[in-house]
Amino acid sequence: MTQVDRQSWDVVVVGAGGAGLRAAIEAREQGARTAVICKSLFGKAHTVMAEGGIAASMGNVNAGDNWQVHFRDTMRGGKFLNQWRMAELHAQEAPDRVWELETWGALFDRTPDGRISQRNFGGHEFPRLAHVGDRTGLELIRTLQQKIVSLQQEDEREFGDHEARLKVFQECTVTRVLKEEGGGRVSGVFGYERESGRFFVIEAPSVVLATGGIGKSFKVTSNSWEYTGDGHALALLAGASLVNMEFVQFHPTGMVWPPSVKGILVTESVRGDGGVLRNSEGKRFMFDYVPDVFKEKYAQSEEEGDRWYEDQANNRRPPELLPRDEVARAINSEVKAGRGSPHGGVFLDVSTRLPAEVIKRKLPSMHHQFKELADVDITAEPMEVGPTCHYVMGGVDVDPDTTAAVGVPGLFAAGEVAGGMHGSNRLGGNSLSDLLVFGRRAGLHAAEYATGYAGADRAAPAGSDIDLAEAEALRPFSAEGSPPGTEPGRPPENPYTLHQELQQTMNDLVGIIRREAEMRQALEKLAQLRDRAGRAGVEGHRQFNPGWHLAIDLRNMLLVSECVARAALERRESRGGHTRDDYPDMERRWRRVNLVCRLSGSPGDPAAGDPALGRIRLERRETRPIRADLLGLFEKDELAKYLTDEELT
Ligand code: FAD
Repeated sequence: MTQVDRQSWDVVVVGAGGAGLRAAIEAREQGARTAVICKSLFGKAHTVMAEGGIAASMGNVNAGDNWQVHFRDTMRGGKFLNQWRMAELHAQEAPDRVWELETWGALFDRTPDGRISQRNFGGHEFPRLAHVGDRTGLELIRTLQQKIVSLQQEDEREFGDHEARLKVFQECTVTRVLKEEGGGRVSGVFGYERESGRFFVIEAPSVVLATGGIGKSFKVTSNSWEYTGDGHALALLAGASLVNMEFVQFHPTGMVWPPSVKGILVTESVRGDGGVLRNSEGKRFMFDYVPDVFKEKYAQSEEEGDRWYEDQANNRRPPELLPRDEVARAINSEVKAGRGSPHGGVFLDVSTRLPAEVIKRKLPSMHHQFKELADVDITAEPMEVGPTCHYVMGGVDVDPDTTAAVGVPGLFAAGEVAGGMHGSNRLGGNSLSDLLVFGRRAGLHAAEYATGYAGADRAAPAGSDIDLAEAEALRPFSAEGSPPGTEPGRPPENPYTLHQELQQTMNDLVGIIRREAEMRQALEKLAQLRDRAGRAGVEGHRQFNPGWHLAIDLRNMLLVSECVARAALERRESRGGHTRDDYPDMERRWRRVNLVCRLSGSPGDPAAGDPALGRIRLERRETRPIRADLLGLFEKDELAKYLTDEELT
């Protein structure tokens, strides 16, 4: 048995992206001793990649904006499947969270009269995204980091120890949430240092999951290497459930060429700032793809769409700014119909729409990205773009007000790892605001919960759980390649091969357009991969060993992929980020259905918590009816497109 380092804190935040850092700041400000753990370097989380902006109805550019309009847009974008209380809190609190960032030192772009500038984005009725060029995530993380440093400086002055109440453990991976003996309350986390491979346990009554998304389970993705669905899997393994996992957002515009950069994001700001989509015949095809539910809100002609950029009060927005799911499907259809670009995408053109110096000023990263990676000058020629796996709407089933994971006392989740807020499709910009709003709430409630368990009342992690976590992490070093009952001597499975097969499976069989037979095939393949992953082996030792890290991450990707495939097979309709070729219509009766995934096996069951044996159990749960005053924000005609007759009455 190796020596496991142990420390004790009040709150452990797993993840140092926008959600994790905002949670940590809040928990520390509430007086809780807070530890933050992250896989990458402090300041390098996926959030730094966010480009377009933070959605908040500050009304700086159009005074008509307010939280009610933002709420409406968010619900429409999510096709009314959103956890409406989360959408309400989000819309109400987002402006305060942005203003707060400014007081902490964020330098947003300005309007001519000096206010925080706000830009247009798909599905938002008004210019709403506070931004810093197309590098907003970087500024967000920089600001939160700076705030953390200032809190640590306070502690240095007060206690002579800058890490007395807030400490970041960087380049560490958490592999298990630990619970007390008997499996009730959360009692901490188990993890390892990526560089040394040393194991550690951090005891704490509150654990906040803020681990981001799952995109690395798909072959073509805009997501960073960290997105292996760890928090989703940690929650499942701790007994929590995941909701809405069938809803995966395929962003319409990722790079398609050259192959080495396929999937890298082309920000929606390109369209928000005037860029248009054309097919190989030069046609602005989005006008052919405005669905009935949005017909009244979008321009019917190019002229009207173009006028909107100058005069939004008297014109409707161009259909290039429909919610992402609609645009992604339209691009997919054009390519399928043989009207795609040479490398299997469509053309996104800003060069004929804006002067070169404006493009360079407003979209500096895009200009740089295409020049460096594809040798394309976007001020002079169009980009080639196509859908890329971008965001998961599904996630940990949480209480909307407190972010507490349903059924697991002491566990909280915020940011992309949490489910419900975005319904079936997230609007651009609504993630960064979600991180801030629910990150703060998670920190607040995790701290409150932890202070309720002082001293002897605190649950210690069960020793057997720690032993199991350690054995699980070490398994790849002694993996036996031959399946039980077969001739021994086969080499262990290669984690990289398994990962590639998983990504291909998810891309091809549970991707942007889904069919029953293919999803069944995917589930069979996932079962085989899970079996083989149990025999994944690595050579060498625990000092920085990327193959070992991947072998551990595979457990998580396989678990979340199974959730996505099972839920996608179950939902027999098309809605938001879930498109069924065999059930192409959105069905009102499905709107109230939430699909909830749990790990099969009850506590005590030998299969419980063992990913090699575990299977996902799927349940249907009805959402609570939307509160009447919130329904009152919509016209009855519009509600009739989403709600059943029974709900309407
Ligand atoms: P992250 O920022 O990903 O942080 C996750 C953290 O968890 C990391 O620190 C990671 O190291 C850590 N972690 C993960 N697993 C473990 C583990 N097992 N142990 C320890 N630590 C772990 N949204 C917008 O609203 N506006 C935009 O303009 C926008 N632009 C985007 C552009 C791109 C290219 C992409 C890919 C996304 C964009 N998004 C945007 C989406 C948004 O960036 C993400 O949804 C958001 O940043 C997620 O933040 P988070 O705090 O939940 O997770």
